[in-house]
Amino acid sequence: MRIPIEECVKFSEVDYYTLRDGAEKTFNSSWKIDNNSYINDAVMELLIDYAKRGYKVGQLFKEKCSNVGSSGYQYQITPTCSVCGEHKAIILPKTQILNLINNEGVYTCKNCVKRIKEDEKRQKQEEKARKELEQNIEKANNTEDFIAGYLNPNMSWNQSVKMRDRYASISNAFVNWSVVEEHIKSMKYHDFLNTPYWKAVAYEVKRKRNFRCELCGSNNKLAVHHKTYENHGKEHISLVMKNDLIVLCDSCHKKFHDIVED
Ligand SMILES: [Zn+2]
Ligand SMILES: [Zn+2]
Ligand SMILES: [Zn+2]
Repeated sequence: MRIPIEECVKFSEVDYYTLRDGAEKTFNSSWKIDNNSYINDAVMELLIDYAKRGYKVGQLFKEKCSNVGSSGYQYQITPTCSVCGEHKAIILPKTQILNLINNEGVYTCKNCVKRIKEDEKRQKQEEKARKELEQNIEKANNTEDFIAGYLNPNMSWNQSVKMRDRYASISNAFVNWSVVEEHIKSMKYHDFLNTPYWKAVAYEVKRKRNFRCELCGSNNKLAVHHKTYENHGKEHISLVMKNDLIVLCDSCHKKFHDIVED
């Protein structure tokens, strides 16, 4: 007997018995569901499973589409997309039909899956852009404060901040370093030498060299001398400190300059 497709839209307990009892087992162990369609035991089980659970997944009917080797036949089902409501035939292997059943019968069409993924991606990008913007604003504010404080020749370190801790306040600052660098370059060099920034960096360099002149070992009136100004504005970077700055005592320093100022 023919199983009307419409009756398969939503199976009920009765429908499934109708399905099983109405179908006719044929000579080759298939179930004949109409004059043109036969289903095998596996598909019958699927149909029954749908029916028992009462899933409204749309029309489900057997259509042997292709033999895909050991994984068996593929079957066409016509589920309703849970998002857009589209009702369209898709061809799936049995395992995926089972997955659909195990997923509480909730089916989402390819287009909707794609759109949902794109939405998620866009949301993530927007979130990222918003965070970047917030960080840039924070950085800009910090940079202003940094310049007004650490790069102000008239400011000095709060005595409560230990000498050896000062460099960390500089180097760990969340600021726009290229703006800092430009600002330093725009300063008069003499002013730069009086900034809390330079004082903290210079102290850190001396500390790292054990408070000794790197030429003679003296500890008399140590100065931090620039071997090159190529990286002026980036003195806080440890590689610059290491390569560009040298600790010299007063007399060794005088050998480098007629007038000692840095
Ligand atoms: Zn959809
Ligand atoms: Zn020396
Ligand atoms: Zn010097």
